[in-house]
Amino acid sequence: MDLLVSPVPQLHTMNPSLGEGALGTMHDAALGFADEKLVYVGPAADAPSAKKTVDGSGCVGLPGLVDCHTHSLFAGSRADEFRRRLAGESYTSILEAGGGILSTVSATRLADDDLLAGLLGQRLDSFLRSGVTTVEVKSGYGLSVAQEIRLCRILAEGDWPVTVWPTFLGAHAIPKEFRSNREAYVTAVVEEMIPALSGIARAVDVYCDRGAFSLDETRRILKAGMAMGMDGRVHAEQVEHTGVAAMAAQMGCLSADHLEQLDDVGIQAMADSDCVAVLLPGAQLYLNDPAPPARALAEAGVPLAVATDFNPGSSPVRELLSCATLACLRMGLTVEEALLGITKNAALALGCRDRGWLGDGSVADFALFELPPGENESSALVQYLGGHKTRCVVRNGRLVWSSEG
Ligand SMILES: [Zn+2]
Repeated sequence: MDLLVSPVPQLHTMNPSLGEGALGTMHDAALGFADEKLVYVGPAADAPSAKKTVDGSGCVGLPGLVDCHTHSLFAGSRADEFRRRLAGESYTSILEAGGGILSTVSATRLADDDLLAGLLGQRLDSFLRSGVTTVEVKSGYGLSVAQEIRLCRILAEGDWPVTVWPTFLGAHAIPKEFRSNREAYVTAVVEEMIPALSGIARAVDVYCDRGAFSLDETRRILKAGMAMGMDGRVHAEQVEHTGVAAMAAQMGCLSADHLEQLDDVGIQAMADSDCVAVLLPGAQLYLNDPAPPARALAEAGVPLAVATDFNPGSSPVRELLSCATLACLRMGLTVEEALLGITKNAALALGCRDRGWLGDGSVADFALFELPPGENESSALVQYLGGHKTRCVVRNGRLVWSSEG
């Protein structure tokens, strides 16, 4: 065996067949890796020896975390906007003055491929060090045929430190040059961008809201992408209730994300489908939005995922574990729901059943976290906000990061 992590006092496999409760918890466990595979999960006392061992004392083990909603591919800075918002200017007035998403679009269009790939690589490195091994990244700061294809190609073709799940978000905003002719932009998305991106982007996403895309435009774009084999996802019910979550669920989309304004009809439609509710507490915090109806969703049986929504404007948040904490504090999730939300259910939102849990048939992605000094319960990992210490990260069976260097 190549690598052994042992002993792990608390291991949440997210696989109820391996351990206790919904998190499949094992105590005093060990994990063994060989040939890029997970070959042993069981008692530390029975673990075979390996060429290299990482000591997991004082730690909590989780499957490699999955961040299922990010906008990590961009250039430029919105630091000035942050100051303006603190001084009382509204997000809408900044947007109307050419700021917001459109200012990131201008900076991203001007950046060459090397600069963009370099920035993305640095951001993904920071995700990896915080235990995240799979990151969904959306396009959406190009907003022209050539630029959106360029962004999706960078995502799909790079050699990244984490597994990148590319999502096409050409319908992120109406670009300036199409303001007086939005129909022409939607047509370009449907007839030019989507056909060019089949086999490159895994999913198609639409920002359906006031000031973004209408319900009819969203349906047209999702239909076109899904007909090309892409999975459907939506930015749903964030600023205004549009009914898009119910529509997305009925169309067979994998997820509806945000959901601050979701109503009972939307909850029921999601419960009647396999649509995952992706909660984004970073954006809720930065925009001072109300909480989505997370308890009602959970009670209706809708799987809850939690993601960073990492972007330079409304959610400059890179720590997925901190989002789990915020989802508990601001949305009413339990610790168990929050941990499932950044592992197994996050993978479900990507339509990817081989990660977010550990066991026979899972990828060999694993993260080991140190508990804060004096703490013994794994829930302290979610209780403490920020400052998490990752002891090691294993991706595809290889030790890719370790605090021991
Ligand atoms: Zn988003």
